[in-house]
Amino acid sequence: MKDAKCKKCGKPAVVKFRTYRISLCEACLPAFYESLVERSVKRHRILRENERVLVAVSGGKDSVALASTLKNLASKLNLSLEIIHINLGIGEYSEKSEEVVRKLAEMLEIPLQVEHLSDFGFTIPAVRMRKVCSACGTAKRYLMNRYARLHRFDVVATGHTCDDFAAFALKNIAGGNLEWLLKFQPRAEGFAEGVVTKVRPLFERTEEENLLYVKAKKLPFLADKCPFSPPKDEWKEIVREIERKKAGFMRNFVRGIAKIAAASGESVASVKYCKICGEIASSDVCAFCKLRLRSVVAESENEMQRQTKRKHAT
Ligand code: SF4
Ligand code: ZN
Repeated sequence: MKDAKCKKCGKPAVVKFRTYRISLCEACLPAFYESLVERSVKRHRILRENERVLVAVSGGKDSVALASTLKNLASKLNLSLEIIHINLGIGEYSEKSEEVVRKLAEMLEIPLQVEHLSDFGFTIPAVRMRKVCSACGTAKRYLMNRYARLHRFDVVATGHTCDDFAAFALKNIAGGNLEWLLKFQPRAEGFAEGVVTKVRPLFERTEEENLLYVKAKKLPFLADKCPFSPPKDEWKEIVREIERKKAGFMRNFVRGIAKIAAASGESVASVKYCKICGEIASSDVCAFCKLRLRSVVAESENEMQRQTKRKHAT
């Protein structure tokens, strides 16, 4: 950044947004970033005026950037906001995440709801599955949708990034999985009764941009990694490598895929409702209730093992 000047005010620049070929100082960066999100939201009709928005915040940089930019947009679109944070019961990591989100909600003056997975009978570490993250995703989606439906929110907003979408799209193209690819929408309307519309206002923002923004705005966020996070995401590494060679690739790629997905329309599989909890399901029992049952069985097996050990010890 040697000798580069901020495009907005002429002071020494500290960062360059390569996709937009613009250098900025720290003071001008937040307004520029927020204008980009506003443009995405308007161009793709991601949010509509007067909507009640439930904002999912984990405490990581992306969801923190989301909450802050939506706060900025709220007065322009007359949105009403509430934050939801899900405490997954992952020891110190979950405690720190909740603390960060409480601080953020207070700072942004947005009401906050914290849901504890343990109140629903289990925690993420208790889920004995090879793919813990997929179980975690199921739990988060279920609790967000349930809360939003019960409290009559119009949409649930999540901090999915351009990196997430580009990696997801490339992986599904490579695997020939068109059905999944076409689920890619910055605004996915609720396709059945009980399913709340999901919006992803940061789908054109990279994780790098989100980090620059939260740092420039001095927002609290948790940089620690979840202990269950996979060591590396190779698909993300691939799309970022292309981005390094071709600035703007990721944004153009996700835009293109979103266009194809919108043109092809939503294919809705037959809808069922869970016999245990009544929420939407793809079979008689929803994925969340299956997880809950699994954890109960695993816990009773543990208890039996403990009792057997105690018997042998006496
Ligand atoms: Fe959940 Fe996996 Fe993310 Fe940890 S890394 S919070 S287990 S999805
Ligand atoms: Zn269920």
